[in-house]
Amino acid sequence: RGAVSSRELVKVYGSGPTAVRALDGVSVQFRAGEFTAIMGPSGSGKSTLLHCLAGLDRADSGTVHIGSAELTSLNDTRLTRLRRDKIGFVFQSFNLLPTLSAEDNILLALRLAGREVDRAWFATIVDLLGLRDRLRHKPSELSGGQQQRVACARALVGRPDVVFADEPTGNLDSRTGAGVLDFLRTSVRELGQTVVMVTHDPIAASYAGRVVLLADGRMVGEIYDPTPESVL
Ligand code: ADP
Ligand code: ADP
Repeated sequence: RGAVSSRELVKVYGSGPTAVRALDGVSVQFRAGEFTAIMGPSGSGKSTLLHCLAGLDRADSGTVHIGSAELTSLNDTRLTRLRRDKIGFVFQSFNLLPTLSAEDNILLALRLAGREVDRAWFATIVDLLGLRDRLRHKPSELSGGQQQRVACARALVGRPDVVFADEPTGNLDSRTGAGVLDFLRTSVRELGQTVVMVTHDPIAASYAGRVVLLADGRMVGEIYDPTPESVL
């Protein structure tokens, strides 16, 4: 249901002599219920891969499967629906709506989809992420770490099959970061979610069951049961 895979994914930015081959034929698989970290040097294509896997960006060639759906064959309407129903995405830059409260940001997508809000699950997420007394605040009234946690809550509240997270702990102090990672790990275990997280932090990566290594737009290795030392 929540398996994710790509085959020979290619993404080129620009054209001519200045073109950048951000993805140069990436074939990678993420099993349902697996928690994977993607690591690699800055510019190696991590964000581009995440965006293409999540259907936020279209690759130039190659295929992406989420469950039984092949993203590159879907039109925009179907792609939007698949993203809404199956995928949660934590953006590096949060992408919160400035005029809405934290609570409304977290629940907006469910409301737009006409889906019922599971208040117990909402409360669990809010408590685990330490957001209970911040729900009425607007993003501008929250610290970077709090905004990051709102972005995580928003991605998880609909219990998506697949969660993509771009540097989810990049703006958090280590204790709050550990809380978010613990929560992701628990959520994977209890809901059977597939989580794919981009990070450059070896400690964050050690929460995953597997690390996939990228360099120059290619997958160059993988490490199972990573420790902070083994991925440095
Ligand atoms: P990473 O996440 O590993 O830092 P990115 O996926 O952000 O890598 O970028 C991979 C390469 O593609 C880099 O050379 C980057 O400069 C380039 N790139 C990424 N996004 C764009 C864009 N929108 N336009 C042009 N080049 C881009
Ligand atoms: P990261 O390296 O962590 O992926 P970046 O700062 O490289 O983050 O990228 C942030 C945003 O800027 C992304 O949406 C990416 O697509 C875009 N971007 C990255 N490199 C370029 C570039 N050379 N030209 C235009 N946009 C870029």
